[in-house]
Amino acid sequence: MITTLGEAFDAGWRLRVYCRDGKRDHGKSTRECRSSLAADIETLLRTRGRAFPISSLETRMKCPRCGSRRVSIAFEVPRSGMSASA
Ligand SMILES: [Zn+2]
Repeated sequence: MITTLGEAFDAGWRLRVYCRDGKRDHGKSTRECRSSLAADIETLLRTRGRAFPISSLETRMKCPRCGSRRVSIAFEVPRSGMSASA
C-alpha cells in the first residue's frame, strides 16, 4: 500500500492534476480551464518531503494554469516492468 510521496516515486508512479474549475453555474467571466497536466513528483518530493501523504495532495495542489484549488489528482501506476529492487 503506497501512501506517501516517497513510496509513490519509488514505485514509478506518475501524477496528473486535473482542473475541475470552469464548471460554475454562475460563470460570468470564468473561462473553462479543465487543464490536465502532468505533475512532477520529484519537485513535490523536494517541496513536501517523502513522507507527505498522497491523500493530502488533492487539497494542497493548485491548477498550474488558472490557480484554482479545485483539482483532482490521479496517479498513473505503471503496469509492470518497474520491479523495484528495494
Ligand atoms: Zn485550471
